[in-house]
Amino acid sequence: MDGCIFCKIAEKKLDSQIVHEDSEVIAFEDMNPQAPVHILIVPKKHIIDLLHLSSTDEGLIGKIHSVAKRIAKERKIEKGFRIICNCGEEAGESVGHLHFHLLGGRRLEWPPG
Ligand code: AMP
Ligand code: ZN
Repeated sequence: MDGCIFCKIAEKKLDSQIVHEDSEVIAFEDMNPQAPVHILIVPKKHIIDLLHLSSTDEGLIGKIHSVAKRIAKERKIEKGFRIICNCGEEAGESVGHLHFHLLGGRRLEWPPG
């Protein structure tokens, strides 16, 4: 999708610190980390957000969580981590390409702000 920064990252037209890549999913360091580990896990396909997920793409969500599990183990944050998907402006969504934040490496408060 033209003008989408996460599509550009997936197409390697924009630099990022990639931590995982396969045919469907890319994961890279968030440029404005909110925790010692803050990685974005993103489907390569341009899906705007969860409200725009079609049933044929449901498998991607499971795959993204498997990638998150693998990275959490690699980064040794099994003691506590969180996967967040902001959907909609009021939830803080600022990039209109579906993405999941993997956060860990510090105590995470509840409820989130
Ligand atoms: P959200 O607010 O849930 O839409 O999350 C968007 C996230 O993308 C924010 O945490 C930003 O710091 C991050 N971000 C935006 N542009 C880039 C980029 N070029 N490389 C890495 N992270 C980015
Ligand atoms: Zn996109």
